[in-house]
Amino acid sequence: MLTGRKYVAALTEDQATFAEEIGGAIRSVWNTALEQRRKYRRRGKWIGYREQSREMAEAKGDFPWLKAVPGHCLQQALMDLDVACRTHGPFMIRWRSKTRWSPSFRFPEGSKIPVKRISRKWAQARLPKIGWITFRWTRPLGGAIRSATMTRDGERWHISFLVETGAPAPAVNLERGRVGVDRGVAVLAATDDGRLFERKFIRPGEAERYRRLEKQRNRTERGSKRRRECIRRQRVIMRRVRNRRRDFHARTACRIVDGNALVALEDLSTKKMSASAKGTVAEPGRNVGAKAGLNRAILDKGWHGLELAIRNRARKSGTVVRKVPPAYTSQTCPTCGRVDANSRQSQAEFVCTTCGYAEHADVVGAQNTLARGHTGYRAWRPRGCPVRESPTGSRGNPVDSSLSHEAGIPRP
Ligand SMILES: [Zn+2]
Repeated sequence: MLTGRKYVAALTEDQATFAEEIGGAIRSVWNTALEQRRKYRRRGKWIGYREQSREMAEAKGDFPWLKAVPGHCLQQALMDLDVACRTHGPFMIRWRSKTRWSPSFRFPEGSKIPVKRISRKWAQARLPKIGWITFRWTRPLGGAIRSATMTRDGERWHISFLVETGAPAPAVNLERGRVGVDRGVAVLAATDDGRLFERKFIRPGEAERYRRLEKQRNRTERGSKRRRECIRRQRVIMRRVRNRRRDFHARTACRIVDGNALVALEDLSTKKMSASAKGTVAEPGRNVGAKAGLNRAILDKGWHGLELAIRNRARKSGTVVRKVPPAYTSQTCPTCGRVDANSRQSQAEFVCTTCGYAEHADVVGAQNTLARGHTGYRAWRPRGCPVRESPTGSRGNPVDSSLSHEAGIPRP
């Protein structure tokens, strides 16, 4: 089974400078190749990895800086771009800007990267052209290295390895439980058994400090030293928030996935996601644009991040993650099947207008998501009510109780 190991790297000054140069080269290769792909697309044509890789090899003669960096990393960047463009199309892929993109590059040939312990706390790995780099040995590798990636987050470099542990992928045990998850605006995640997962990712003091830095920054000149310092400090806060969020996602994912054979998630639209990121769903408020950075940090639950964490955890335990259409999950009664917008009394409250079933609205969403996840969506579509129609005025016929998750499927 493949898994990742990430360590803090302690680069020497020369190594850090060189790593920065490699990052710069990767960035310009990415941007040039992306521009080329877009040009081709505009003419109705397509250029692939093979062609671009060949052209890059030729360009090495003209640009010595391109020749100085590890060739495999450059090829890897072109390959990554190829995959990205095939999946999303060249116009959806982002430029890598000098200020926004953190350097990251991958050495694909893991078998040629030797690793040795040099003390109890430190180890070294030899990377092509960079040489031996030292990193903090916080846990064993636990398998054969497939690839190594250097990344910089702020001022700190990390080295991560993709490792083949040799352990067989766990088999799915269908006897185990199932869980439905509803990701919401007020609460990060709710499960069908009534658990709510939520925490604030930014502390009040941090938000205050961020606001103060924002004001300070607006008083400084563009490109000045003081402005750069403000931005740097703001980024330190944001990185902390990001790390906290990622950590919470990982922990939440463990608590949701472990012991379950099936995790049902609603298939969220990106529109809903970005609306919440801008703070328009939960807090329409003023000045959304001006405070976008801070607002996002406060409101952003990172739904996609949670999904990634769940998938990552599920991969290890062999759990199946299924996405279901989310239409009406928040307006459908899990016991009688009635679909009514009025059942949703507020952001958090759900009281069925027909049978009086009352529960936290997000938990209801999770229950419906689970029901759809294992009985199939068609079974839960109210009869005579096409999915895309407005729910108001539809007659929510009670659904056959044998299809309800409470009646049909045993829970552990
Ligand atoms: Zn009901």
